[in-house]
Amino acid sequence: MTHALPEHYRALRVVKGDDGQPRAEFQTLPSTELPTGDVTVQVTHSSLNYKDGMAVAGRPGILKRHPMTPGIDLAGTVLHDETGEYTAGEGVLITGWGLGERHDGGYATLARVPAAWLTRLPHGTDAQWAMSVGTAGFTAMLAVMALEDHGLKRGEEAEVLVTGAAGGVGSTAVALLAKAGFNVTASTGRPDEEPYLKALGARTVIGREAVSGLTRPLESERWAGVIDTVGGATLAGAYAATRTHGSLAVCGLAASAKLDTTVYPLILRGVNLLGIDSVTCPPSRREAAWGRLARDLPAAALTDVTRVRGLSELPALAQAILAGQVRGRTVIDVN
Ligand code: NDP
Repeated sequence: MTHALPEHYRALRVVKGDDGQPRAEFQTLPSTELPTGDVTVQVTHSSLNYKDGMAVAGRPGILKRHPMTPGIDLAGTVLHDETGEYTAGEGVLITGWGLGERHDGGYATLARVPAAWLTRLPHGTDAQWAMSVGTAGFTAMLAVMALEDHGLKRGEEAEVLVTGAAGGVGSTAVALLAKAGFNVTASTGRPDEEPYLKALGARTVIGREAVSGLTRPLESERWAGVIDTVGGATLAGAYAATRTHGSLAVCGLAASAKLDTTVYPLILRGVNLLGIDSVTCPPSRREAAWGRLARDLPAAALTDVTRVRGLSELPALAQAILAGQVRGRTVIDVN
């Protein structure tokens, strides 16, 4: 079954201006200009991630060509699938795979993508829920699963650190870890966010310097597990204070891509540095992660973490996320 394809669609496009500089503009395009792919999706919701902020603001490194529709996440309804794997009307989501980077993304009312990129919306969820989780929440789930796969056990003593805790990945990581029964410590540079982080389930809230100030190669052992979204001195400090046989799930570089440290925690404490890459995560792991997100983070749990904004607000929102002023998750209602 196929649903009728609209003749036109609306998109936020990043184009190169006459001065050679990228800039975002709203366009209405004929659907014949959609990229090639198996499945056409009526997009209803997308989300705002740090990468999207960079792309919309015209910062280099995210968009691999111009013009391009940013938006690394999307959710909506299948209109047509060449492969026959999906039926028209099915609810689906996509995160990663190069969407909104090398292939037109979620800031448009229509998308066309390879069938292999789609994940069905878990039972009992909808597109808005999927986008309030988005790449950020999905990444947080992959990080929790990686720590558990490497032996992290819940219990009063198992203190788990989340850095950049008031951000999108951090907020969801705090909520997921608390739900799984861990003793969560949230590190934030925004002390005003302490009540928010405690409401998400953090037992302890500490400042950024409490982690980035740990500069000895081996610090006193404290954390059984770490989810780091910040990189740089923060990651180095958390790594030096991770307990014997503990693990760090390394997700982000909000402060820095550098890691200046020693091998001592690896070779004297058996600490595990685990890389998290949500973009290339294989389909079976994706399904497992989304299933657990649906179970552990139902829509009601995300209400306080999520705000919904329109497509037209994206240029301003991009500046805000780059300035570190966005709390939790921003869903984009594309229509
Ligand atoms: P957000 O902007 O929502 O959150 C980042 C948080 O990091 C901020 O809220 C802030 O937390 C903290 N932070 C920002 N700047 C600094 C700084 N200079 N020093 C210390 N802390 C800082 O972004 P996301 O949560 O969406 O993404 C976080 C990181 O994870 C990004 O680097 C992103 O690129 C990466 N990422 C990686 C993925 C993967 O697959 N590996 C997928 C998704 C994201 P606070 O205010 O609490 O201090």
